[in-house]
Amino acid sequence: MIAASRAACVIGWPVEHSRSPLIHNYWLRKYGIAGEYRRELVPREEFASFVKSLAARGYVGANVTVPHKEAALVLSEPDEQARAVGAVNTLWFEGNTLRSINTDVEGFLANLDASAPGWDQHLSKAVVLGAGGAARAVVYGLLARGAQHLIVVNRTLARAEMLRQQFGARVRESPWGALEGALADAALVVNTTTLGMQGQPTLAIDIGRLPAGAVVADLVYAPVRTPLLAAAQARGLRIADGLGMLLHQAVRGFALWFGKTPAVTAELRAVVEADLSATPR
Ligand code: NAP
Repeated sequence: MIAASRAACVIGWPVEHSRSPLIHNYWLRKYGIAGEYRRELVPREEFASFVKSLAARGYVGANVTVPHKEAALVLSEPDEQARAVGAVNTLWFEGNTLRSINTDVEGFLANLDASAPGWDQHLSKAVVLGAGGAARAVVYGLLARGAQHLIVVNRTLARAEMLRQQFGARVRESPWGALEGALADAALVVNTTTLGMQGQPTLAIDIGRLPAGAVVADLVYAPVRTPLLAAAQARGLRIADGLGMLLHQAVRGFALWFGKTPAVTAELRAVVEADLSATPR
């Protein structure tokens, strides 16, 4: 039985750009659940004390965004997946224990399942562009789904090398200059860099090198239709966009806090897409 009214929040610095309030408040209204989801602007130096007083502030849990995702890991009890990814984005209470997970992994995979069914059936080789926090979640997820060879291409090679060291022999790092060669027999390409984002340089990549049947995923969601995805679609390739991942990664937090597993629908997509177009921050 869910209590009369529950509250959750997203904690960040900055936090204004977060679409999580829009998503969770949409679901609260949709399912007629008495609850609220707020933004909490919390600087680094106040994050630990904020998290310690989460329950006292009336919260049943929270999302954590930049720059607190790593700090949240040590202030909570993470699961094995969040430990491996090295960052946490969702907090909730199990009794008096503050538990944590990283829902980017399941959001990324669920979005691919929904957008390109069967994408993992012949996953001999995948190319991951970028080696930051999001790339760790993507690499973890792709290995879990049986990818045989993962080529991590990153501007700073040392960061890609760290992923190989952590995740093992199925992962190989590659310098940015070798990207075109890596694409030739890739079943999947995933952009986890900020390239292609509004205000950032475009991702220069020759989609024509990919084999027919390849799937292209982009984590960037502002704009929703990135130049990478537009080029892939123009070639007739299947795509999975960053907005889909953003919506799917929110599902588990909502279920944990409010007791209902919400659906990712075309209507919700349209609501968030309209907001992204109106204020593309
Ligand atoms: P991050 O840790 O800061 O990593 C950024 C990555 O982008 C690094 O690999 C960085 O390379 C690369 N990069 C930045 N500028 C570049 C440039 N000019 N040329 C080449 N590479 C460049 O960020 P993150 O947390 O992983 O997030 C990455 C992206 O994923 C963001 O756009 C974020 O919004 C998106 N994201 C989306 C979702 C979703 O639900 N859709 C979830 C998480 C993240 P270096 O290592 O060389 O600096």
